[in-house]
Amino acid sequence: MSFQEQVILYLCIIISLVGLIEYKLTIEQHVKTKPYILCSTTIIADIVKNICNDSLDIICLMGPGIDPHVYKPVESDLLKIASADIIFYNGLHLEAKMADLFAHLAQRQTTVAVTCNIPRTMLLQVDGHDNIFDPHVWFDINLWIYAVQIITTSLITKFPEHADEYQKNSTNYIKQLADLLAQTHIMMAKIPKEKRIIISGHDAFSYFGRLYDCTVIGLQGISTESSPGAYDIAQIIQLICDQNIPAIFIESSIPIKNIIAIQQGVAAAGKQVAIGGQLYSDALDIPKSAGDSYIKMIIHNVQTIADALL
Ligand SMILES: [Zn+2]
Repeated sequence: MSFQEQVILYLCIIISLVGLIEYKLTIEQHVKTKPYILCSTTIIADIVKNICNDSLDIICLMGPGIDPHVYKPVESDLLKIASADIIFYNGLHLEAKMADLFAHLAQRQTTVAVTCNIPRTMLLQVDGHDNIFDPHVWFDINLWIYAVQIITTSLITKFPEHADEYQKNSTNYIKQLADLLAQTHIMMAKIPKEKRIIISGHDAFSYFGRLYDCTVIGLQGISTESSPGAYDIAQIIQLICDQNIPAIFIESSIPIKNIIAIQQGVAAAGKQVAIGGQLYSDALDIPKSAGDSYIKMIIHNVQTIADALL
């Protein structure tokens, strides 16, 4: 190795060491100077953001467009999880690969499943299982308000100095959700009942269907991991042809190949079905997009469905 190469190697080592030290300092400063809340999904993080504004940092394990059914924590997640002041996750086996981890963490950290206070009678059972429920509760705004309430209570318990502010923000946010519920009922009511058939990538919209009196069909079951839906592709193609269903929908966190296969199958049967647009299902979208908050996501979905099916 020449002298010049030795100098370059030495400089690279120094730069790397400085980088590591700066990274470590950043983490330590972050932990020491500001508490932070760890949320499993963007949809949960949006509630926390609405309640605590900038008083706390919010870290989300799964970013925009990530499928929570199959997400496995990576090494860098473990540091974030271990130092969090509160951990909020959906529960009901949405985060299937992390259920054991969250249960274990609950023994030493404040760990809250945001669906835990929803009365079990209001949940939809998974076919054939008495104690397994559909986790996509955010698509019933009434149920999601339970999540807002337990997040508010948990934040106030942990940070009582912010109690008045958090309670005020929570009350205001719940009022916005009540307005959203009324607004979306009006939008969906414009679609004739017989046209309210939503076909999408997986069974994420059953609560949505119950709330707005729609028939919903997912190509995959409740989880994207492996379970098949109640209908097979041939049955769905037949249904679309028989009922002249005008559109089917892709989902933001699900590959579109199965939906394209349906469209091609309908074409092969001599009919046509449009791709009605993209619905947000299990994750919000990037900042400044049409799905960067829960309220915007719900309005986007309802508007997309109404535009495609009317
Ligand atoms: Zn899902």
